[in-house]
Formats: sequence, C-alpha cells, structure tokens
Amino acid sequence: MRIKKNDTVKVIAGDSKGLEGKVLKVIPETGRVIVEKVKLIKRHTRQAGQGQQGGIIEKEAPVSVSNVILVCPKCNKPAKTAMAKLADGRKVRRCKKCNETLGDDD
Ligand SMILES: [Zn+2]
Repeated sequence: MRIKKNDTVKVIAGDSKGLEGKVLKVIPETGRVIVEKVKLIKRHTRQAGQGQQGGIIEKEAPVSVSNVILVCPKCNKPAKTAMAKLADGRKVRRCKKCNETLGDDD
C-alpha cells in the first residue's frame, strides 16, 4: 500500500473530495483506508449499559485508497512520491517536490 497509518491524505475523488485528514487505519485486503473525519456516517447505537447513553455516533467509513493522495508533511501539499533506497537497503517514499522522506515502503 502506498498509504500508511498516520499519513495525512487529501481526498481527490468521491463524496468527500477536498477533505484532508489523518489515516487512522489501512485495510490492505480491500484497498481502503479510514481517514479521520472523512466520510462520516451516522450510526445508531443502543444503550449498552448503565451510565452509557444510546444514541447516534459518527464514525468514519472506509474510502478507496485510489481516491486519496498523500499530503507531504513538509510542503503541506498533495505530494507525488518516488521510491528511494537508503544506504542500509531500506526502501522509503520520498516527496518529489522537497525530497522529504515519508517513511518506509513495504
Ligand atoms: Zn514535500
């Protein structure tokens, strides 16, 4: 996956187009990611027990990884990334604009 947990991404297609948020979870099996405050869906919850209120909670729904683009933490802009190989053999993602290293690739 080219997107990782804790990456900041921008949504470039779909209902949530234009929103930015932090990746909370990556689901490689379905090629989807859960992005903080993106694609919020309302869920009705039942009262679970004493002191806990039932009601409506908002929860993020997964979005396709092809609908998001990584935002470079340094340029603060959607970044095209390239793969770079470090001296110790690790492969990392690198911002094409500022050359900032954006974490390991796997
Ligand atoms: Zn950058």
